[in-house]
Amino acid sequence: MGCHEHQGRGEGAGLQNQNWSNTYAYQAARLHRPTSIDEVRRVVVGATRVHALGARHSFNSVADTTGDLIDVSDIRSVLVIDHDQRTVTVGAGTRYGELAAFLHAHGLALHNMASLPHISVAGAVATGTHGSGDRNGNLATAVAGLEIVTAGGDLVQIRRGERGFNGMVVGLGAFGVVTRVTLDVEPSFEMQQDVFAGLPWTSLLTNFDAIMAAAYSVSLMTMWSESTVNRLWLKTRLADGEPSRITAAHFGATATTRASPGAVDVDESLTPFGVPGPWSERLCHFFGPTANRARFRRSKANTCYRAAKPQPH
Ligand SMILES: Cc1cc2nc3c(=O)[nH]c(=O)nc-3n(C[C@H](O)[C@H](O)[C@H](O)COP(=O)(O)OP(=O)(O)OC[C@H]3O[C@@H](n4cnc5c(N)ncnc54)[C@H](O)[C@@H]3O)c2cc1C
Repeated sequence: MGCHEHQGRGEGAGLQNQNWSNTYAYQAARLHRPTSIDEVRRVVVGATRVHALGARHSFNSVADTTGDLIDVSDIRSVLVIDHDQRTVTVGAGTRYGELAAFLHAHGLALHNMASLPHISVAGAVATGTHGSGDRNGNLATAVAGLEIVTAGGDLVQIRRGERGFNGMVVGLGAFGVVTRVTLDVEPSFEMQQDVFAGLPWTSLLTNFDAIMAAAYSVSLMTMWSESTVNRLWLKTRLADGEPSRITAAHFGATATTRASPGAVDVDESLTPFGVPGPWSERLCHFFGPTANRARFRRSKANTCYRAAKPQPH
């Protein structure tokens, strides 16, 4: 099958050239969307300057080049679970939302996820993307192995513990084009997300460690200009059948079931509040098109993970 090539710079390049938030225009001369790993190798060998592009959520030029960009998300990916090793191997362009739904359907989980389900596995780990929870490693800490096309066009594999592994995982695309990623998994779990409004700044500063340790995953949402912290999100990991016993009252915040006017304009896209459910529907902050729907429509990564169908393995 042929490689899809999109011209980058130049007339009529339009939205194909923008990052997700339309705050950066890629300068690359060409964008390639190979449909096989062999095509990735051919593009790399034939290019003078080449860089990998993920789901385009980075706010800056970190993924860019003046030469050839390669987006591997059109390579059909088969997600492979290894129950003995407790890992899953995925195509590098796989979106976390798609992966989360697949793993939950197989009784498995990731230990952490970032705000959005739309980012690619390769892009997230390459940038050390973090989730939340002061005892949870960032997304790169789950990487057990990489398959990567190097500058010479070789396809190599590297595993945790081997020389240079850690640097290649958080590699910002500098070591080649990652084509497959192997991630640690664990048994699936239930979570409850509780949301509190109006956390006083003095309370946050006085109780910072206690607040950040108050749940498995803790997030603070602020516009910085308000007199209180707009939102405190506590995501509790539940034992089987156990209800959440979270209370944030002693921090001076107020329990809420929905975002108050003006605080966040994407209520309909937030993952559910106050109701126990699968980790795959609670660990991210958002699950689908936000209030800024146009951006998500433009994004190829517009996959609601609740609706995503698991792929065969
Ligand atoms: C609204 C929003 C919310 C965010 N929330 C969070 C958050 O909660 N936590 C957090 O830490 N970050 C967050 N980010 C930042 C985001 O997670 C990172 O920018 C992440 O890198 C995006 O991944 P991507 O797939 O879009 O990669 P891109 O932005 O496209 O690329 C990022 C880097 O990964 C490299 N890369 C991509 N694919 C490959 C590949 N196949 N092989 C080799 N290298 C590759 C690129 O070369 C580049 O250096 C957020 C960003 C936005 C816009």
